[in-house]
Formats: sequence, C-alpha cells, structure tokens
Amino acid sequence: MSLATIIKPLLVNYTIIFSLAINMNLILPFKVRKSPALNIRTFYGLSFGFTALLCMLNPIESLGETNFDLRMVLILVSTLYFGWSVGAITTTAVTIGRYFIGGKFFLVGIVINLTAFIIALIFRKSFMKWEKKYQLSIFIFIPYFLITTLILKISIDGLPIVFYLIYNSIFLFTFMALVYLIEKLTEVNKQIDEAAYFERLQTVGHMAAAFAHELRNPLTTVRGFIQHLSEGSNHKKLPEFSPIILEELDRTNRIITDYLSLAKPGKTKDEVFSIQQTIFETIQLLHPVANFQGVSILFDNHSTDKVLGDKHYFKQCLINILNNAIEAIEEKGEITIQTYRDEHKKTINISVIDNGIGMTADQIEKIGLPYYTTKTKGTGIGSMVVNKIIRDMDGTVRYYSEKGQWTKVVITLPLYQKIENN
Ligand code: ADP
Ligand code: MG
Repeated sequence: MSLATIIKPLLVNYTIIFSLAINMNLILPFKVRKSPALNIRTFYGLSFGFTALLCMLNPIESLGETNFDLRMVLILVSTLYFGWSVGAITTTAVTIGRYFIGGKFFLVGIVINLTAFIIALIFRKSFMKWEKKYQLSIFIFIPYFLITTLILKISIDGLPIVFYLIYNSIFLFTFMALVYLIEKLTEVNKQIDEAAYFERLQTVGHMAAAFAHELRNPLTTVRGFIQHLSEGSNHKKLPEFSPIILEELDRTNRIITDYLSLAKPGKTKDEVFSIQQTIFETIQLLHPVANFQGVSILFDNHSTDKVLGDKHYFKQCLINILNNAIEAIEEKGEITIQTYRDEHKKTINISVIDNGIGMTADQIEKIGLPYYTTKTKGTGIGSMVVNKIIRDMDGTVRYYSEKGQWTKVVITLPLYQKIENN
C-alpha cells in the first residue's frame, strides 16, 4: 500500500463522512443534550449507520479478504457523542453490512466493531465532561489501537507493519477531525441560540422601558393637574383643565392599545369586511380630533371592496396612519383617502395623502423602525403597528413624500376572493 493509491479512496471517505456530518447538523443541529429524545437518537443512529455503510462500500484498502475503511470511526464517534442506543444502531448497521461482504474474516470484523463500541461506552462519561474533546480522542484511540492490532495480529497473519502505521494514522486523524468538526458545529449552534435569546430579551427590555417611559409622561401631567385642582379653591378651574386631563388620559389609552396590538402574537380574527365601510367608520371616529386641528378628511367612494382580516386591527392601522397625517399638518389642511381596485392583480390600494410637513428620503427609510420618531411626544410605534397588521393581512405599506409638501401612504391588500365549489 502506497500513499498514492489510497489518496483517492481517502478523499471519497472524507467527502462521505464530513458532508454527512454537516448535513446531519443542518437537519438536526448538534447540541449538548443531556438525554436526547427517541426521534433525535433514531435520526442520528440511522444517519451514522448509513454513513458507515457508505464508507464500507468504499474501502480505503482491501488486503486479501479484509477491508480497511473508516466505519469504526463512526461507531466511536456516534457512541461517544450520543450514547449507547445511537452507537448500537451504527454498530448493527455495520454488522449487517459486514455480513453481506462475507468472507472468512467476518467474525474478526464483528469483534473489532464491538471493541470500538465498548471502548466508546467506557469513555463516554469522561468524554462528555471533557472541554477539548479532540484531545481526549487520542487517549481513547490508544486502547482501541492496541486491542484491534492484537486481534488482527492473532487472526490474520502477514499484514505488513507499514500498513498498520499508515492505516492507524489515517484513522486517528479522521477520528480527531470528526470530533473537532462536531465540536465546532455544536459551539456555533450554541452561539446562534444565545444570540436569538439575547435579541428577544433585548427587544422585551426595550419595549418595557419605552412603554414605562411613554406612560409616565401623561400620568405625571394628570397628577400635576389633579394636585393643582385639589389646592384651595382651584377645583373651580376643573372645566378649564378637564379637556387637557382627558386628552392626556386618551393618550395613555392609545399608547396601551398600540403596545398591546404589537405584543399580541398573530392571534387575529379572520373575517371578510368592506374596506370603504371601515374607512368611513374610522373617519367618523377621528372626526372630532381632526376638526379640532383644522383638518378635513376627504373620502368619497361608496363601492365595497372586500378583504380578509381582522377589521378591528385594520381600523387601528388606519387610525395610526390618520393620526400621523393629522399631526403632520401644522395649521389647516386636508387629508384625502382614495381606494383603487386592481382587477388584474386582484388587490386593492388604499392611499392616505396629507399636505403636511412631509419627510425626507432619509426619514422615509426609517419609518417603521422600532421607536423611530421625530416628535417630542411621539412613541415611534404607530407605524410599527401598521406594518405588523398589514403584513398579517399579506399586504404591503409604502410611503412617498415631498419634504414640506405632502405625504402619501399606500396600503396594498389582496382582495377577498370567494372560493367557488363547482
Ligand atoms: P409617532 O407618531 O409616535 O412619532 P409613528 O411610528 O407613528 O410614531 O411615526 C414615526 C415617524 O414617521 C413620525 O415621528 C414622523 O416623523 C414620520 N411620519 C409618519 N407619518 C407621517 C406623515 N404623514 N407626514 C410626515 N411624517 C410622518
Ligand atoms: Mg404616530
């Protein structure tokens, strides 16, 4: 056996082992599991068994009737990492495969398989505790090497010493490399999990902080007014202050609603409702506020285009967009709502146009980002909620604007289509 003749089968074996390990990790990421579930063990067992069979089909070298391949590496690794049951499946697969290869050294093959399995079982506990597992694999390899060499020496004679050295070096290298690979993959998986967890934790933290902050402002104002009213004969000023107090309380309410609709995880009703009808209802709702700010809302479309979604949430979404439009108009102004039905695409566009302060391209890009606001009393969640609601309805939201001139918000939603049974 020369190095040149084994390069090709060696490369084939490495491709089999390492690509299967990486694919296994893709399907069921390697993790440090105390007691993996049955389906996980079955998956790893079958995968390792299959990999071992493929290795046996591509032996590195066959001397007489003995095949030398890397199947024992897989028995060692599967048992060390996943325990006796996964190791047993791999060992069984190898044994069955070996049976079909046949030959007079069948029994020797079985004994060597079992040796690998038992050695791995003995070392499993310390292996799992060990920090740098590929280092420990050298110590696991030594007894395996000694015992199997002894078995081979006794049962098959005439195997050259050089052959042992080359084969076992390859074996040790593969063993360490596979352990190292699984170790690295496990580490990466852990980092990914942790990153996702911290991300979520951070989002919750951000939300809680922003929420508390937003609520504190109006509550402090209300508290101040009530304290003022309760002093001396100030209570007579109640009619004067009550609009401000009520407005602040309404603001509190709005903030809570916004946060709740953000936090609620996708549990929305599925109902068919008319877009135009909902727009009319929302305008009615906002009429007093708009009037007070000198803003008129124009909408005159009496068709009924039906969409599927949660009407309550959709109203909330319109309210958020209209509130932004009202707030963008500094003195007197107009908001125009238009709907356009696209027969071809089976969608409906709802545009809300205001002639308020507008936005720069830079601002448009930032809209909908969590807590992005340019207002002193803003929260920056209104448009985030809009995005979430429309996305839940399979629609899109786009913003167009000219700084100092106008802003146009376009919602596109899929039209409701009756499913006909015929
Ligand atoms: P908030 O209204 O609390 O600031 P939003 O998420 O509703 O938060 O809006 C984010 C930002 O987007 C606003 O602060 C504003 O700068 C900008 N914006 C949204 N709608 C309009 C609009 N119609 N005209 C101008 N700017 C807008
Ligand atoms: Mg807003």
